[in-house]
Amino acid sequence: MIYLDYQATTPLAPEAREAMLRWLAGDGFANPHSAHAMGRAAKAAVEVAREQVAALFPSGGQVVFTGSATEAINLAIRGGPNGPVAVSAIEHAAVRDTARWFDADHELAVDADGLIDPEVPFPEGARLVAAMQVNNEIGTIQPVERLAERARAAGAWFLCDAVQGAGKLAAPAGADLIAVSAHKLHGPKGIGALWVRDGLQLSPIILGGGQEGGLRSGTLSPALCAGFGAAAKLALGRREEDAAHVEMLWNEARGVLDRWVLNGSGTKRYKGNLNLRLNGLDVARLMSDCRRIMFSAGSACASGSGRPSHVLRALGLSDGEARSSIRLGFGRYTTRDELIEACRTIDAAAKAQGV
Ligand code: PLP
Repeated sequence: MIYLDYQATTPLAPEAREAMLRWLAGDGFANPHSAHAMGRAAKAAVEVAREQVAALFPSGGQVVFTGSATEAINLAIRGGPNGPVAVSAIEHAAVRDTARWFDADHELAVDADGLIDPEVPFPEGARLVAAMQVNNEIGTIQPVERLAERARAAGAWFLCDAVQGAGKLAAPAGADLIAVSAHKLHGPKGIGALWVRDGLQLSPIILGGGQEGGLRSGTLSPALCAGFGAAAKLALGRREEDAAHVEMLWNEARGVLDRWVLNGSGTKRYKGNLNLRLNGLDVARLMSDCRRIMFSAGSACASGSGRPSHVLRALGLSDGEARSSIRLGFGRYTTRDELIEACRTIDAAAKAQGV
């Protein structure tokens, strides 16, 4: 098997797994909210992890652990004051569908390169503007710093979904709320975080025991927190090394797949995401012919739905062009040889279809 679906999820780093094991065995099962010695030890591990995750963000805010980035995004949007919400046309469903939960949602258009205009007008009286740092389907990097600055000037909060950029790019400066997910940066599934700028008043959407400063009730898992913390620390420590590896992989893959058309900007992008199309390609057949290669048709979230990707449509692609697109996602643990082998296999299978 060759795994090329890093935007859907990433392999667990051995360092993260190791950090988790201590809390999955022996007396590591304690409730981190208990006042006794075992509980306090578990709580200490949670707080170490919180510091490690906090290093992914700017200074001047608090990390709230959640069950996923989806939950973090829900907390950010639903936990704020009522009013118009403006989100970009290429946001993940977690942002789009949560914004639609309010009557008044407004979409910020993107250009043919999959980029939001940093000067795009915001709706009158917007109380929240949301734009992602790196798009999960096409990898484009959005001008979030400028959008955040303008949102602040307009009196709106700025939410950045940094799920695909966290640990890879610098933290989005100027944001008020930032959502991340452990499993996209080689941590475990089942844990995410919302960074909340100091001074912002959010209301909880999950009520109960009042954990996480009352913002997110529910018993935390020390194992998941420790795994997330270790993964964040590792990602920050290896950022340049990982980026150089991804750049090398990108060049190799582009070299083999040079006749394929790239979806989204070729320059303002994270290079571990290669979204390509070949007009006339039958992607379902391609995936079936290349079963040993784990890759995606459009977005992992949209694939299987039968609907063409809203991101590719937002770029102005026709239904047919969107349906003839594939996404290859690679990163830290992908080897050059396996990537080249996968790209050659995919290209040969496409040629066998006559495209
Ligand atoms: N935002 C983006 C950009 C994503 O890629 C994803 C996952 O695919 C999410 C949000 C949701 O993350 P989670 O799986 O932690 O809910």
